[in-house]
Amino acid sequence: MKPDEFIDYQALFSEIAIAVQTIDDIGAVASYIPELLEVDPNKFGIHLTTIDNQNYSFGDSNEKFSIQSISKVLALTLAFELEDENLWNRVGVEPSGTAFNSLVQLEYEKGIPRNPFINAGALVICDILVSRLKNPKHDFVEFVRMISANPNINYCSRIAESEKLTGFKNAALINLMKSYGNIENDIETVLDFYFNLCSLEMTCMELAHEFLFLAYGGVNPATDHKVVTAVRTKRINAIMQLCGFYDEAGEFSFKVGLPGKSGVGGGIIAIHPEKFSIAVWSPRLNKKGNSYKGMKVLEFITTRTKSSIF
Ligand code: GLU
Repeated sequence: MKPDEFIDYQALFSEIAIAVQTIDDIGAVASYIPELLEVDPNKFGIHLTTIDNQNYSFGDSNEKFSIQSISKVLALTLAFELEDENLWNRVGVEPSGTAFNSLVQLEYEKGIPRNPFINAGALVICDILVSRLKNPKHDFVEFVRMISANPNINYCSRIAESEKLTGFKNAALINLMKSYGNIENDIETVLDFYFNLCSLEMTCMELAHEFLFLAYGGVNPATDHKVVTAVRTKRINAIMQLCGFYDEAGEFSFKVGLPGKSGVGGGIIAIHPEKFSIAVWSPRLNKKGNSYKGMKVLEFITTRTKSSIF
């Protein structure tokens, strides 16, 4: 395949179908949220959508799954719209180099999380949305639906409840931040919003369509709806590049070379600016909490097409 300019997606997807069978599927489904253990670990789905509306799918790409932390990008997008640059007084833009739910750094840095994608940072973003939105859960899901003109996106109450029962670390993180004055609202309210946010479900196809605006300067090319400005798009993609994969963001950049975000449900979204968005779902996670097979497949794609942002 020639570098860049022209990608024969049809040929690429035929190759993926073969390659997927040769890639190991090792790792373990996230077990700390009991409901996630109910998912068949052998599921595999992928969907790519281009900015000129070509669509390519494979496997279980039409099955809903829990997008978990991937929704933090959408929460950031809305909070950025509402708070503008003031946002960065309460959360940073640096990689953390620690686990997504780590408490350690937060104490050293006086309750200011390193970035909006580790749990502490996402909790601050949730606090902002709880302050700013009239009906936070309703308004947020409406925002998500509007981005891709898809009314079929919903929270999963089973997953949210399951996480509420076991989310002790998130409770510890938010309490610590409250002690430093970086949480305005009642802790239970913010946690409830956060657990719901993480419980959003989408198929690979829906996820790829939802994130296409980040490949097109902040505008959804399918609807012409402007979600964010081009400058904010640049910044959101930059944070995904640096912080989207817990403390494995360097590895993802090194191997895949695209901005992206993973979730403990086994999903990954990746963006090729000016070209496409791609969603992969494979529930077995590696030791860092990222989909093992999902990362391998994305590495295969950017290596095979010789096309990444680098
Ligand atoms: N709901 C999960 C948690 O708070 C999200 C983790 C993730 O997907 O990174 O632990």
